[in-house]
Amino acid sequence: MAKIKIDQERCKACGLCIIYCPRNLITTVKKINKRGVKPAQFKKGAAAQCSGCTLCAIICPDNAIEVYK
Ligand code: SF4
Ligand code: SF4
Repeated sequence: MAKIKIDQERCKACGLCIIYCPRNLITTVKKINKRGVKPAQFKKGAAAQCSGCTLCAIICPDNAIEVYK
């Protein structure tokens, strides 16, 4: 069990973390951020399934994700 924190103002909504998460635990929010996009967010209740593999954080080009194990 692990969790991630996404800096939603830093996120540019490229979608890479959503594509690469092997457990499909990341989605987008409806609210637009300062960059004018709908940023990524950790799905509700996803901490129980997150392995803490850090793939999402490694793949993020804007360094917007932190993983907590
Ligand atoms: S740490 Fe791994 S399992 Fe958890 S959200 Fe990121 S990519 Fe998915
Ligand atoms: S990889 Fe980073 S910039 Fe791209 S959607 Fe995910 S958090 Fe946002």
